[in-house]
Amino acid sequence: MTLTDRDRAVQAALAQGLVGPRQPVAGLLDIAGIRRSAAELRSAFAEFTAPGTQVLHAFAVKAASLVPVLRLLAQEGIGCEVASPGELALARAAGIPARHTVLDSPAKTLAELREALALGIAVNVDNHEELSRIDRMMASAPSTAPIGLRVNPQIGGGSIGAMSTATDTSKFGVPLRDPGAREWIVRACLDRPWLTRLHAHVGSQGMPLERMTEGVRALYDLAEEINEQAGGPRITTLDIGGGLPVNFSSDAVTPTYREYVALLRSAVPGLFSGRYGLVTEFGRSLLAKHGMVLARVEYAKWAGGRPIALTHAGAQVATRTVFAPASWPIRVAAYDDAGRPKTGAPVPQDIAGPCCFAGDLVAENRPLPRLESGDHVALLDTGAYYFSTHFAYNSLPRPGVYGYAPAPDGTFAFATVRTPQTLEELTAESGADHANALRSLALG
Ligand SMILES: *Cc1c(COP(=O)(O)O)cnc(C)c1O
Repeated sequence: MTLTDRDRAVQAALAQGLVGPRQPVAGLLDIAGIRRSAAELRSAFAEFTAPGTQVLHAFAVKAASLVPVLRLLAQEGIGCEVASPGELALARAAGIPARHTVLDSPAKTLAELREALALGIAVNVDNHEELSRIDRMMASAPSTAPIGLRVNPQIGGGSIGAMSTATDTSKFGVPLRDPGAREWIVRACLDRPWLTRLHAHVGSQGMPLERMTEGVRALYDLAEEINEQAGGPRITTLDIGGGLPVNFSSDAVTPTYREYVALLRSAVPGLFSGRYGLVTEFGRSLLAKHGMVLARVEYAKWAGGRPIALTHAGAQVATRTVFAPASWPIRVAAYDDAGRPKTGAPVPQDIAGPCCFAGDLVAENRPLPRLESGDHVALLDTGAYYFSTHFAYNSLPRPGVYGYAPAPDGTFAFATVRTPQTLEELTAESGADHANALRSLALG
């Protein structure tokens, strides 16, 4: 059997003890793969944009909120899209300069807005109330931070409702097609010389490329209308968001950045004319294919005639897959105790996690070589929104995350991206310092 790089990385991770009886689950990131995706993103846009066009690719930090990953991407020329004070702190810890950072939350506090404006971070305003706050801030302390308005083009949803941000009633942005909204947006931009950007992010996963393109088209048409009325380039930059879907059913990378940009280029040629600077906010498509969760099979059993593998990867690391399995199915690869790919006839079996609720299954009735205790499972394509979306159920600790790259001696070198959470950290996080707090309150 020929081993893939992934198989060999699994073997090396087990041989080096990153996953074992004491640390039964970890995340692994393929560093060369991440670099490759970053380079593909940059070259796809570089190929289609007019020379001299300013393009900022800002990685959506929520997809992999890990400082070393942000710094790796920065090395590849990629900035950060942040949506909370925590994400901004991570981007700053990674050394991302303000001019490569974009702030996009729908519920920014006054303090967050003040900090962003003071730092010169690009801010995309979500709604009319937030715009009034910025008006007051700009009047008292003018800022040169780029400021944009998030627009909901209301072009409809994709196949996953919870991921569709451009439905009629989406909570994000100013709804472009509501009565009077378009006129309000045009006026808002004409009245404010500092409001120079428009932003749309129409969905994450499950959106057909054609629909994403339609959203960008609506954004572009709006910018053209504003600039025509302004008699010059008032809107100078378009932030087209992220949302490129990822293929979770095989190793193929499809669609590619190049396919999306080529489609955009034919549907919205003016976007690439050089008259607009561009910002993108891809998350999942940069990381998903380059990560896996590797977990030990603790026990194998039968129930109702069905084999069940009890593993250490469940809802705590694969939250969306466990709670919404129809929307977020993932591939599972089976390895033996030494990390060799399991062979043998596929048997439909459940791959269960360690959490104490019945639905804690990452795959149900999945045909795989029969798993036994001491084997391992790898949850594939989990580089985005898995390590960063930990679910603290059952006080299960956040697992360690390690980056890997081929080493000169033919094996793999690993670097710690995040240390496994310790039980001391976990108890502290759960109020250990306040152990007596309720007792003394009750005694009053
Ligand atoms: C989540 C999000 C993204 C990233 O979406 P992906 O599907 O991961 O590419 C980009 N922009 C905004 C505003 C988001 O909320």
